[in-house]
Amino acid sequence: MTYSEDEILKNPLYQSVLYELEKAGKHIGINRNVMERLKLPRRSIRVSIPVRMDNDRVQVFNGYRVQHNHTLGPFKGGIRYHPGVNIGEVAALAALMTYKNSLLNLPLGGAKGGVQLDPSALSKAELEALTRRFTSELSPFIGPDKDIPAPDVGTNSETMAWMLDTFSLESGFSQTGVVTGKPVEIGGSKGRSCATGLGVVYILEKSLEVQNKNISEATIAVQGFGKVGLHACVEAHAMGARIVAVSDRSGGVYNPKGLNVTDLINYVGANRLIKGYPKAKSISNEDLLALEVDALIPCALDGVINSKNMKSIRAPLIVEGANGPTTPEAGEYLVNNDVLIAPDILANGGGVVVSYFEWVQDIGWLFWTEKQVRDKLKDVMYSSFEKVWNFAEDYPDKTKGKYKDLRLAAMGASLMRLEKAMKLRGQAW
Ligand code: NAD
Repeated sequence: MTYSEDEILKNPLYQSVLYELEKAGKHIGINRNVMERLKLPRRSIRVSIPVRMDNDRVQVFNGYRVQHNHTLGPFKGGIRYHPGVNIGEVAALAALMTYKNSLLNLPLGGAKGGVQLDPSALSKAELEALTRRFTSELSPFIGPDKDIPAPDVGTNSETMAWMLDTFSLESGFSQTGVVTGKPVEIGGSKGRSCATGLGVVYILEKSLEVQNKNISEATIAVQGFGKVGLHACVEAHAMGARIVAVSDRSGGVYNPKGLNVTDLINYVGANRLIKGYPKAKSISNEDLLALEVDALIPCALDGVINSKNMKSIRAPLIVEGANGPTTPEAGEYLVNNDVLIAPDILANGGGVVVSYFEWVQDIGWLFWTEKQVRDKLKDVMYSSFEKVWNFAEDYPDKTKGKYKDLRLAAMGASLMRLEKAMKLRGQAW
């Protein structure tokens, strides 16, 4: 199947990523040739995935893998199963992975993949058949030294186990390093399942500190109660924060005195969705975004904080657990109005950091304790926050708000490392 370049360039999330790229590039005076190379992904793969459904009929799904840049190492990025997946969104998320991995000092490039479907509408057998066929279609392009997928929205450790098994069957030997985020029993890393949420909380802690607040006294609202949001709630709660509101695609719940996170997890475990949770007031996702809390943590989809609702945001801090939750227009408005934003490529980097640890453990066949993983993650998250904060001081921006534009600083620091590497490899001059 083919696609036109326009399908990528016209996607709103891709346009946002390009806008941030060009803005940061201009800010640091980046080499023109480096910029040209980063504007489009290196390779975009689109596949048809025929699946024999439970009713014996064949249904064909659209699957994608976009490999944006691999100057720093093998491509790396998640696989998303969601009805809104398209080539442009996948390309934008792949580019964000390039910038995230560069910022976090990892020896990895950026990629992303996805299949356009609603996973809740498929049986487990159908999902397994689809994942295996998708992996088979991608197998010439992925591998421990080439491109290493991981879970994202709508996928999990089980999806990764099926990918690992299919890839290994086709290779004729077990290749545990082909994916990360797999179960611990088959080469996964301890601490991977909570890593993104934990990383978000380390950045929350540091961001509150610069606002002269302590996490143990903070109130927070979290949008999204999946792999990122749920663990962000658990870890923030463990550090003393009061989780006053949480939502998922069915809506949200609010209790100004603080939600009982364990009770909510049990409820969602039994009922799949937050809707109907009896021990708190029901609110909408829009209500949640407008709450007066110390920190707002979007952990669902992109573009949720935008020109339509930016003026209703009352939190002085946004920590972006999701990828691309704030549009450029809303981000600039909020930063100019005294809101501190810890950007996605910094705030949700904990997932790929521990994915990197998992890959290193698989390659070395030597596994670490959960404490080792958490300690190493904390070091990376704290030092990355400091790197971005110092970069913002060294390269001052023109925002009129109380705080620097940390997205600009994070992109700037990331691009500088990439520029150096691309020049050294002779990719730009
Ligand atoms: P997930 O599928 O586990 O959870 C997504 C959550 O968002 C669910 O609770 C879902 O109900 C909710 N949601 C979906 N649509 C919504 C809507 N319209 N309004 C409100 N809530 C909605 O996915 P995840 O892995 O937690 O990923 C969430 C975000 O974090 C995505 O942007 C993803 O790219 C990003 N991210 C994930 C990881 C990771 O390790 N999983 C790492 C970095 C970034």
